[in-house]
Amino acid sequence: MIINTARFLISSPAVGKCPDTSLHEYAFIGRSNVGKSSLINMLTGRKDLAMTSSTPGKTMLINHFLINDQWYIVDLPGYGYARRSKSDREKLEKMIKGYILNRKQMTNLFLLIDSRHSPQKIDIEFMEWLGENGVPFSIVFTKLDKLSSNAAKKLTADYCSFLLERWEELPPVFRTSSEDRRGREAILDYIEEMNKLPLEDTV
Ligand code: GDP
Repeated sequence: MIINTARFLISSPAVGKCPDTSLHEYAFIGRSNVGKSSLINMLTGRKDLAMTSSTPGKTMLINHFLINDQWYIVDLPGYGYARRSKSDREKLEKMIKGYILNRKQMTNLFLLIDSRHSPQKIDIEFMEWLGENGVPFSIVFTKLDKLSSNAAKKLTADYCSFLLERWEELPPVFRTSSEDRRGREAILDYIEEMNKLPLEDTV
């Protein structure tokens, strides 16, 4: 898929305040610093579309970006940021879960995992929650350029084996780097295929 246009639409504090739209949307989530903003910028070919974690005052909002006037990328706040207060963490969890469970337009959730790390409890628990609630999601390994090709293969395969010890099958898995842009076509092709389905068939 060629990205012709990508523009920020709106930031919303809760699912009930999200724009009333009838286009497919694809949400991106992961632990703080996992590389989510970089991935969104890489996919859209825009340097500063999503704010990176170094942006001061990066807030706890649901951000909609309209792509090619045809579909949305939704940037959800990062979770697991240790320096957040307990009440902020609770508010965040409520907002994220509210969006995921109630947003009918959400066709797929891309869950980002830093390819360098072994499975982390917070991510595994989150995936289990997604599974229990029948949420369609995919796994996106990030920062592959930081590993040698052998290490990249081994670590991501080990991660998948870990999941298969618990589950019968894996969700779709993408291996990406925002530095060298690997994985870009695979994710955009996947979105293009999903966009062909009527919205009501995907939710
Ligand atoms: P976010 O908090 O999940 O939005 O993460 P960011 O996109 O802000 O990235 C966090 C840090 O990781 C930044 O210093 C990025 O430059 C770096 N980073 C993100 N993606 C990649 C990648 O694919 N390769 C490399 N080498 N660094 C990355």
